[in-house]
Amino acid sequence: MSAGSGIPTRSRAGPFGRHMWSRRWAKDFESGVDRNEVSGGRQDARRGRVVSLDHSGRTVRCDVEGSRPLPFTVEFEFAPIDSTDSDALRRALGDEEQGVVGALTGEFSDTVGFLLLPAVHGDTAYTCRCPVQPGPCRHVMAAAYVMVEWWDVHPEALFALRGLGAEELGVVLGDGAGDDETVSYDVREALWGSDPLLPVIPRPEPAGLEDLLDAPVARRLAAAASADPLEQLRVVADLEDFLEAFSRYGDQ
Ligand SMILES: [Zn+2]
Repeated sequence: MSAGSGIPTRSRAGPFGRHMWSRRWAKDFESGVDRNEVSGGRQDARRGRVVSLDHSGRTVRCDVEGSRPLPFTVEFEFAPIDSTDSDALRRALGDEEQGVVGALTGEFSDTVGFLLLPAVHGDTAYTCRCPVQPGPCRHVMAAAYVMVEWWDVHPEALFALRGLGAEELGVVLGDGAGDDETVSYDVREALWGSDPLLPVIPRPEPAGLEDLLDAPVARRLAAAASADPLEQLRVVADLEDFLEAFSRYGDQ
């Protein structure tokens, strides 16, 4: 079998999925599937026989080269996140280290990953246009592996795949916003506003210069300026005056 011209997988051997949650999904997807389809799918994925991956809303579509001149189209459709998980998601997003905006750009914890992850049985539907039905056939398996690696690179895609577009995210995050300021902001603005997507980094109060220049340093500077103890005290006093004036200047 020759190598295809499709999307190369990172994984050259063993399981697919770099994150705990993506690896789990791939493993769950394999469970109960005929071993031939699993190894055929792994081979196809690694040989670049998945030639495209497109997504729209909750749907992912891949073309996979098979035994016919034209590739077979595989389609996955994921169920929208349910209200229990979306409640848990809202709480989890409030605790994220990178903040909500960070999470929306794909910087999220495994906790959020598992909450967003569609269950293989129940939340995941798939079809393939090849004759081997109902499947999952090797084409579906190959597409699934490539999709898992796509999730690894773009975890934020899971929000849309679970039906969490800008408006729905606004509802999920806005719910109960009164008691949690972290999540009460305009999601639409954050996702598609004119400002670049950057994690929210709390701006620390600027440290007073007095804090930066501690007493031993001031004493050393004074000692370097003069051998006379009285003169040294003056130097320290001058330094303190200067720093005080300087920090007042910085406050303006
Ligand atoms: Zn198929």
